[in-house]
Amino acid sequence: MTISPSRFLQQVLQATAPVSHPHDWHLASGVLARWHADNAVELLPALANQEGSHILLSCGIHGNETAPIEVVDSILADIASGHLPLQHRLLVLFGNPAAIRQGERYLDYDLNRLFAGAHRQHADAREAKRAAQLEQLAELFFSRAPAASTRLHYDLHTAIRGSVYEKFAIYPFLQHRAHDTTQLAWLRHCGIEAVLLHSKPANTFSYYTSYYHQAHAFTLELGKARPFGQNDLSRFTGIDQALRQLLSDTTPQLAAYQPGDYPLFRAKYDLIKHSEAFRLHLDANVENFTTLPNGFVIAEDGTQRYVAEGGKERILFPNPGVKPGLRAGIVVEPATL
Ligand SMILES: [Zn+2]
Repeated sequence: MTISPSRFLQQVLQATAPVSHPHDWHLASGVLARWHADNAVELLPALANQEGSHILLSCGIHGNETAPIEVVDSILADIASGHLPLQHRLLVLFGNPAAIRQGERYLDYDLNRLFAGAHRQHADAREAKRAAQLEQLAELFFSRAPAASTRLHYDLHTAIRGSVYEKFAIYPFLQHRAHDTTQLAWLRHCGIEAVLLHSKPANTFSYYTSYYHQAHAFTLELGKARPFGQNDLSRFTGIDQALRQLLSDTTPQLAAYQPGDYPLFRAKYDLIKHSEAFRLHLDANVENFTTLPNGFVIAEDGTQRYVAEGGKERILFPNPGVKPGLRAGIVVEPATL
């Protein structure tokens, strides 16, 4: 299935003549579109809604994860045409335009490891400037939301590999806040099959907006990454429909979240690649959430051994190709709220 990019995505992909920012653009639907930067467009409903939510959608944080970009772009096109009546303030961030244009995950450094200040430690990477810019854009957006209003951030991704649970969410570490069961019910409505409750701060975009701007923020992994135009968008219907309902205020009454609706996991520890001697003893194509048998040696790094315990642990995001010092995988275990 091929879609023709809307004027929004064209703007991001072509990086054409420099447009001064902010640049306002009235859509046929009465919605005001405001380009804040080459990768950032804010949409304001035709009728201001004091009770409305403030919704940040980000996609293309990893440049080769195209399906979410196509989903978001088709939503933007339908808002522009008036087909989808926007009821809430919306900011769309196309995370890493240079990497999107090249079809690469990143150019110099993984953008989704550079938030919450980490960009300062990698100032020479092109992604460091992007991380700082995305933080500023998110801060500006949420700073204009009244204190009591609902702030939402869904950071849309696809994974490099297959997964036992094709669609899953990562709930950033909340420090002192409780997990929000309304959000967990909404994730089920999106077709999310499992949720990882992160157990410590991270340098991801969703942790940044969750911690610094008190947003209900999630990283959503929605399937496998494929090049532009090769995505089977029918596999993304759940998130597409749920986002459209959210933006147009037409979400049906959802059943309350019940423990056991879908599996919850907690990050137990990270597999850190300390040196080039790091060896991961899993097949290169191993799926996310593959169960690790008790006693299985997951990885070795010189004298350090990572051994599975108990038989209920699972592997997430195994990637032995990362640079030394970085996370080469997460070992997770079943969790309850
Ligand atoms: Zn990603």
